Amino acid sequence: MNPSLQLMAPFSGPLLSLPQVPDPVFAGLMMGDGLAIEPLSSTLLAPCDGVISQLARTHHALTLTAANGAEILLHIGIDTVQLGGAGFTALVAQGDRVRQGQALIEVDLDVVARRAASLISMLVIANGEHYQLDERASGLAQAGQTPLLRLHALPAATTTYANELTSESHGRATVRHAGGLHARPAALVQNAARPFAAQVQVAFKGHSVNAKSMVALMTLGVAEEDDVEVLAQGSDAAAAAAAVIAALQTRSQGAHATAQPVARPTVAAGMLSGVCAAPGLAIAPVLRLDSREPEPAQWADDPLPEARWLQQALQQLRGRIGQSVNDALRRGAQAQSEIFSAHLALLDDPELLQACQQGIASGLTAGFAFRQAISTQCQLLAALGNPLLAERIADLRDLQRQLLQILLGEQSQPLQLSAPVILVAEDLAPSQLTSLPQDKVAGMITAAGGATAHVAILARALGIPALVACGPSALQLRTGQQVLLDASQGWCHPAPDERSLSEAAGRIAALAQRRQHMQACANAAAVTLDGVSIEVAVNVANADEARDGLRHGADSVGLTRTEFLFIDRQQAPDAAEQQQAYQAVLDAMPERPVIIRTLDVGGDKELPYLQLPAETNPALGLRGIRSGFADPALLDMQLNALLAVQPLSRLRILLPMISEVDELLRVRQRLELLAGQLGLSERPQLGVMIEVPAAALLADQLARHADFLSIGTNDLTQYTLAMDRCNATLASRMDALHPALLRLIAMTVEGARQHGKWVGVCGALASDPLAVPVLVGLGVTELSVSPGLVPEIKSRIRVLDFAACQREARAMQLLSSAHEVRQRAQHCWPAA
Ligand code: PEP
Ligand code: MG
Repeated sequence: MNPSLQLMAPFSGPLLSLPQVPDPVFAGLMMGDGLAIEPLSSTLLAPCDGVISQLARTHHALTLTAANGAEILLHIGIDTVQLGGAGFTALVAQGDRVRQGQALIEVDLDVVARRAASLISMLVIANGEHYQLDERASGLAQAGQTPLLRLHALPAATTTYANELTSESHGRATVRHAGGLHARPAALVQNAARPFAAQVQVAFKGHSVNAKSMVALMTLGVAEEDDVEVLAQGSDAAAAAAAVIAALQTRSQGAHATAQPVARPTVAAGMLSGVCAAPGLAIAPVLRLDSREPEPAQWADDPLPEARWLQQALQQLRGRIGQSVNDALRRGAQAQSEIFSAHLALLDDPELLQACQQGIASGLTAGFAFRQAISTQCQLLAALGNPLLAERIADLRDLQRQLLQILLGEQSQPLQLSAPVILVAEDLAPSQLTSLPQDKVAGMITAAGGATAHVAILARALGIPALVACGPSALQLRTGQQVLLDASQGWCHPAPDERSLSEAAGRIAALAQRRQHMQACANAAAVTLDGVSIEVAVNVANADEARDGLRHGADSVGLTRTEFLFIDRQQAPDAAEQQQAYQAVLDAMPERPVIIRTLDVGGDKELPYLQLPAETNPALGLRGIRSGFADPALLDMQLNALLAVQPLSRLRILLPMISEVDELLRVRQRLELLAGQLGLSERPQLGVMIEVPAAALLADQLARHADFLSIGTNDLTQYTLAMDRCNATLASRMDALHPALLRLIAMTVEGARQHGKWVGVCGALASDPLAVPVLVGLGVTELSVSPGLVPEIKSRIRVLDFAACQREARAMQLLSSAHEVRQRAQHCWPAA
């Protein structure tokens, strides 16, 4: 097949380059590269042979797919969708095969010229990333006669297209995302499209964009309940179209849906007013944050190293953001994980990357090219006049700041804060807020921003009062100045008098009273109304978190994730360092049991120095205890370090990702041997995590040899529902209250009961107040939760009736979805 394709002029008339078009989307090449023409003839002709893959309902535009896979969008006039079809007569239908020069649409030039913004018409290659365009014509074109430009298919496009043309799938979707296709929904759609080889286009109002580009999707300006068209072409077209349609139709509230921005109130003179992005009241000194960015040089000496540095910096930034996603998912911090997943998607945007490559090829430094590419996208988003999309600019700027810091080696120093402050800035980036210790941020005030910006969503999730969009007067606040922030009411008093300070302090105290009450009772045991005791433990990564847990009244440590000691370094910690770290956790939780889990790496948690083979599906590969068996010396070192802590009577060792009894016996034997070599008379308890369905199904066998079982609902959900726990697209369906999970938990409890062993839950489900009565009812007797949640989970347990919980938990196993379980739980225990 000849990979080069000549396109002929579709109209007669003078030719223009796209940047000359009076429409920012076409001029900015957001729809793709191509040419424009001011039509003097009235019949649109096919520029080459092909299939009409999309015809706008209003007949003002169509996409022609050529035999080499090129998708040629022909758009007649500007803003002509608004004519509702007046002035256009389609001579072909969607799906028709046409020949070069064939008449496609008849245009009544008088009607269109009078009613549209412009008659200038565009020919654009929608999937231009697979083609090189050259031999562009200029001057006056003759319809059907003048060669306009030539397309050269780049290798990937030609090799796959032979098969792809045979399969094509069309469909329609009504967008159900609250707020339409803004960043997070667009990222969901992009993620749904990307795994497929097929080209997928989403078309709306005559504009058709690559569904694999999040920014292009956002530029469609699709609102909630708008209908869009989906066209997929390729060997897996049907599956691709179905996945994209499902993603478009998912009814998501979006994290911003919880925003209750109040209207800007009228406030007394001298007061600062803004929009409430997160409610709450705070009195604290101001800390001004500088939004200065590193300044990259413009011109490079050599493009090759620049391209390499860009790749490395992107890789590092992806790793960093990916880690934030994983950490958030692990902590059950849904809003944070969604926001950082959207950042990852923005970073992988093909159009952004292509613009960077072009910038570097033209001689710019990597940093300058990246900044320029981001600026172009920001301008396009700003030009759409949609406030929701304009707020995504802050996310792009956040990525820009972080990438430039990596490229220019200017790592920001973490701020050392000794007392709580109210952050004041022009705008804050999500990564700036999450990098600060949360207990030291009493509030935030920004001159710019909005209630739906991602940083606002984070502030709500973290319970930090936030006032945004205050205007430049916010920047008159100075570091150290004591202010009174009433974000709920939408104002900040820059110089509060004694009376208003004491009044506010009273309100803060009242708000904190409930929390204090729970904290006051936190050290008492959590016992249900009918006398069943539940141990409330904490999940920790180190001794500091264990101390935090103790302060919040934890009865024990239910999970120490030792992998945090092993990550972000070039080699494994030696036995002495490990022993010190483990001992510190025991010392931080005096006289109480401490569960320490052996290294759980592999899968989404990679260690550069662990020489594990590359795996196509790491989540199903050498992770958890399997990686320990793959590197027995590392496992032995950890077991030795654990055996060296004192007193062993308080230590409980937990094994991750066990799927059969032999694995447990193998570790037990090893532990025996090592303890014997050390001359120890005492042995720590040894438990297994129930994280894969096989372990739950074999719980009776495991319980025979284990001292206890601890259910890791995060992984158990992932493996039971076959949903990647790091897949943001599936995050809303990854609910551990699924009846299948409830049955596996019940089975685990029953297996343990047969051997007189206890069962705990250390996955995020234990920290979910709505799930607590269900887990208690299923017979779980230990819940290991985030340190700050211990008081709340304990008070929740104290008002439960165990017998009722048992009854309900049994009934819930018969329900058909997590949604139904949640509804019923909400009905039975409405306080949550
Ligand atoms: C779990 O899988 O539920 C668990 C607690 O382990 P992690 O989240 O560390 O994989
Ligand atoms: Mg796990």
